[in-house]
Amino acid sequence: MLLVAQCGDLPKWPFVKEYTNSMIGSYADILLRDLIIKYEHDIHLNTIQVVKALRKVANQVQAHDSCFDPPTYIKYQYVPYEMDHRSASLTVSYAYDDWTISNVMYAAGLIDEAQEYHNRSRRASGNRVDFRVDVVIGYDGCHSAVRTAMMKIDAINVAQEYFETYYMEFCIPPKNDQFVMEPNYLHIWPRHQFMLIALPNQDKSFTTTLFSPISIFRTLETADDVLTFFRQYFPDAVSFIGANEIIETYFSSKPQPLISTKCEPHTTYNGDMLLMGDAAHSMAPFYAQGMNSAFEDCLVLFDKLKENNFDFPKAFSAYNRPLRIHKQISIEYLDSNEMINYFDDIST
Ligand SMILES: Cc1cc2nc3c(=O)[nH]c(=O)nc-3n(C[C@H](O)[C@H](O)[C@H](O)COP(=O)(O)OP(=O)(O)OC[C@H]3O[C@@H](n4cnc5c(N)ncnc54)[C@H](O)[C@@H]3O)c2cc1C
Repeated sequence: MLLVAQCGDLPKWPFVKEYTNSMIGSYADILLRDLIIKYEHDIHLNTIQVVKALRKVANQVQAHDSCFDPPTYIKYQYVPYEMDHRSASLTVSYAYDDWTISNVMYAAGLIDEAQEYHNRSRRASGNRVDFRVDVVIGYDGCHSAVRTAMMKIDAINVAQEYFETYYMEFCIPPKNDQFVMEPNYLHIWPRHQFMLIALPNQDKSFTTTLFSPISIFRTLETADDVLTFFRQYFPDAVSFIGANEIIETYFSSKPQPLISTKCEPHTTYNGDMLLMGDAAHSMAPFYAQGMNSAFEDCLVLFDKLKENNFDFPKAFSAYNRPLRIHKQISIEYLDSNEMINYFDDIST
């Protein structure tokens, strides 16, 4: 806010005393929203000044920043590609800015204005908008919409299989700001057909996942069923998670399926679309390879881009090696039930 007082605009990637024009959208509004909504601001953050600065950033061209053009976004409710080749990124960025601003307006008691910015953010994301782009990377997870679109325009072979095992996530919170179990271990409660695992988080909680055949989930219909099950098989975990929290989580969520997806090729014939991460190869989580493979995809693509002088279609085609698909097949030699039994074996 000091920079607003000195320069007139919310800061965006400033360097020494200059605006660098290097980023799209506005980011200070997102930070301000977080400070205000999470009550982490101190008395020096003046809401009237903040609201004024947010109105300006949401509606006016910034004098110092040629990358910033909210009036175009407001006029069309998105940024047309013909007017700026970063249209998709800009539209998403402005819409998110609008949403954060609506939160601040609401906190400031400006309900009508909050609604207006909320509507603006939804208009941009709710409408069907056609963008013309040079290339598309589908990094949109195992139910990839990009993959579905690619299958309509090219011969993309896709095989998918749901496992019998489903999962549900619980949380073991920290106690006195400390982990309640040793953090540097993978905690597993193997129980033949099903298991509970706990993985440490940076906030000293554990993400605690119950993996089980759906048939067992279906037998747990009442709060009593759920607690009896947990007390019988994971008594120490009940004390860590909390009986009420188990019930609350169990009945406010539902078991999620696990899916294995393979597809080939990962690119369209002319190399203008590419699938990466789970969109190209989702797998059972027990090998802890899904996220790793997704990260590895980025490294491989970057190498291919460098080798091909950042010619995207050429790099996409070079990236599409059969090896990447075969690697997944080789690590999926066990199905999820066999893997749960495997954890049983190694822990006894
Ligand atoms: C229970 C469980 C445990 C796991 N444990 C591990 C582990 O220990 N180690 C490991 O390496 N991997 C693990 N994995 C696998 C890992 O989570 C995935 O492989 C990884 O998240 C894949 O990353 P991704 O970016 O490709 O896909 P995702 O993480 O699924 O991200 C895709 C993103 O695209 C967005 N999206 C989807 N459709 C659209 C759309 N139409 N428009 C805009 N956005 C869209 C989604 O909201 C999402 O944010 C686990 C998976 C599960 C289910």
